[in-house]
Amino acid sequence: MSNLEERDRAVIWHPYTQMKNALTHIPIVKGEGVYLFTEDGKQYIDAVSSWWVNIHGHGNAAIADAVAKQARELEHVIFAGFTHEPAIQLAERLLNLLPGDQKKVFYSDNGSTAVEVALKMCLQYWHNKGITKRKKILAFNNSYHGDTFGAMAVSARSIFTHPFSDLLFEVDFIDLPNASNIDVIKEKITAIGDEAACFIFEPLVLGSGGMLMYEATYLDELITLCKTQGILTIADEVMTGFGRTGTFFASEQLSSRPDIFCLSKGLTGGTMAMGITTCNQQIFDAFYSDDKLKTLYHGHSFTANPIACAASLASLDLLLKHETLVNINRIKKQHTQFAERIKHHPKLKEVRQTGTILALEWATSNETSYLNTLRDSLYTYFLEHHIILRPLGNIIYILPPYVISEQDLDYIYQTITAALEIL
Ligand SMILES: *Cc1c(COP(=O)(O)O)cnc(C)c1O
Repeated sequence: MSNLEERDRAVIWHPYTQMKNALTHIPIVKGEGVYLFTEDGKQYIDAVSSWWVNIHGHGNAAIADAVAKQARELEHVIFAGFTHEPAIQLAERLLNLLPGDQKKVFYSDNGSTAVEVALKMCLQYWHNKGITKRKKILAFNNSYHGDTFGAMAVSARSIFTHPFSDLLFEVDFIDLPNASNIDVIKEKITAIGDEAACFIFEPLVLGSGGMLMYEATYLDELITLCKTQGILTIADEVMTGFGRTGTFFASEQLSSRPDIFCLSKGLTGGTMAMGITTCNQQIFDAFYSDDKLKTLYHGHSFTANPIACAASLASLDLLLKHETLVNINRIKKQHTQFAERIKHHPKLKEVRQTGTILALEWATSNETSYLNTLRDSLYTYFLEHHIILRPLGNIIYILPPYVISEQDLDYIYQTITAALEIL
């Protein structure tokens, strides 16, 4: 066992990990493109983009240069009373890229804080307007919006939230819409009507819930209904943003326009932690007042950190390159071809794809859950074959950095095909 493994075990408590029977945490000393390297030179393909954040590959030189340059000029400054070029420029550029009429950018630290800010914007929006009965929040069954308390409350109740269930505020959960249930869902929303403050959703793909996918047209129907009911809409694009679903934002595939967007994960290209909540003029105006009580009293020590802004600007430059679009389209096409080949395999219950995300649901006899033992066997199998894939229960998904080569993607498909025969 390496020195790093022992030192880790002595002092570190890892996320989403039962430390008692955890496998040894693999020390990584270098990243380059889709590869992560260990001390002894072993290499892994990062097929999950290091928890969905890394879109341009590891060790990207352009982002590294931007980060280094910014760190020398201005590493951080208090963002109340002061401002800086990287934050302003990033806001200008994002507002131009986001679909619809987004007008303001509010910075925070990660996906969960971006969601907290969005929820607070919506709840205080009604408070500021003196409307007291709009307190309810709508969210999808199987949704995931983060691990802080507000974000947990609007996420599906699960083994993750169980110990805190008594303390989470009530949320009206609705099913993912499809042709057969859309009318029932719409009736439910209409019944809640003017008691609802907002509806928060992951557009097109529910990530942690198991890469569950649904059609833009039904989401459009729900957003349109919310608009007629005065219910504010929040698109949580923390996972789907920055090219992941094939378009720059998943919401570009909608014809209706959400009021608020939450961004993080791919924002900085996966190099630094940063969250963003954007809103339209209507939301902003409800806070714009001589009355100090109408202020959004929210902020974090590292709000709009200049280095994270610089990383985001460099990442945007890369995303907007023609080459990146070509890569995204190639991954989409390769996924589709593999899905066609594999979808009738008797061990697969379903194969689904949205953009660069491919999910394969293993048919299992025991209950589908995060704790499924198949998950551990699959995880270990892929590691042994030098691929990092972290199944969500019996669901394997590939969510690669866009720089992954055709060959590496084919190698992942081959390894999955072999796993289907063995496990
Ligand atoms: C990961 C995720 C979050 C939470 O982001 P963190 O940065 O992990 O706090 C929120 N919403 C969605 C859709 C996510 O996938």
